[in-house]
Amino acid sequence: MKLIRFGTAGKEKPGVQLENGNRIDVSAFGQDYTESFFGENGIEQLKKWLKTHQSECPLVDKNIRLGAPLCRPSKIVCVGLNYAQHAVESGMDVPSEPVLFFKATSAIVGPNDDLVIPKGSKKTDWEVELAVVIGKKASYVKEKDALEHVAGYVLHNDYSERAFQLEQEGQWVKGKSCDTFAPIGPFIATKDEISDPNNLTLWLTLNGKKIQNSSTADFIFNIQYVVSYISQFMTLLPGDIISTGTPFGVGLGFKPPVYLKPGDVIALGIEGLGSSKQTAVSYTN
Ligand code: ZN
Repeated sequence: MKLIRFGTAGKEKPGVQLENGNRIDVSAFGQDYTESFFGENGIEQLKKWLKTHQSECPLVDKNIRLGAPLCRPSKIVCVGLNYAQHAVESGMDVPSEPVLFFKATSAIVGPNDDLVIPKGSKKTDWEVELAVVIGKKASYVKEKDALEHVAGYVLHNDYSERAFQLEQEGQWVKGKSCDTFAPIGPFIATKDEISDPNNLTLWLTLNGKKIQNSSTADFIFNIQYVVSYISQFMTLLPGDIISTGTPFGVGLGFKPPVYLKPGDVIALGIEGLGSSKQTAVSYTN
């Protein structure tokens, strides 16, 4: 099943994208895609409910805005440098264990919303990533059991301001958390839709030119390992997002580096998870 949310920012309603591409409004089911939805078997209940109610669900207009396909989660945990070639282009060593950082959940926007280049930014960069949505509380989970804690997968662009991230004192979080730096969606594909999340192609284009083109088969640490690893340090709650890192081809790695400017169009996608598109705009008060 493909979960979507649609409508005006902050007032989105839950929906489902059907196999034929049509989108339906499932507000009548009575639950939005929250921590309790994911944690209390909401996906299975919604599937069951649709068997008898699908024909009564209103069709969603094709032109309506998509929001992020889940309500704001308790956290976004990101894995850094999870593809060897990207570590090299970033001028960093290939890590011996996952590098973790947080991204503020206030950065979340819809998949096709504008990217706002932050105030004072000169080095806003892109990162196509596979994100994991947690379905069941995970604390000290073994690698072999890790996928039981996953609800599904979603496309994420982990926008990053490289000066805020790397040139100012402190942790990466400052360069990762600006408003609009986490476009998520178009939909969450529930786990049953993706036979092997560790073998999906992913790509990103800048103004129509393909600059990231890789596969999650190149992960240094696969999804099972990452979920298990993070759960040794914190409890992952249903609805939490883990973003699994970006492959080679970010602006930082170009010689000379390439950073985003107003008017740039960034499009990205992952096999089985659809695509998204953002236009870069200037910050205005
Ligand atoms: Zn990233």
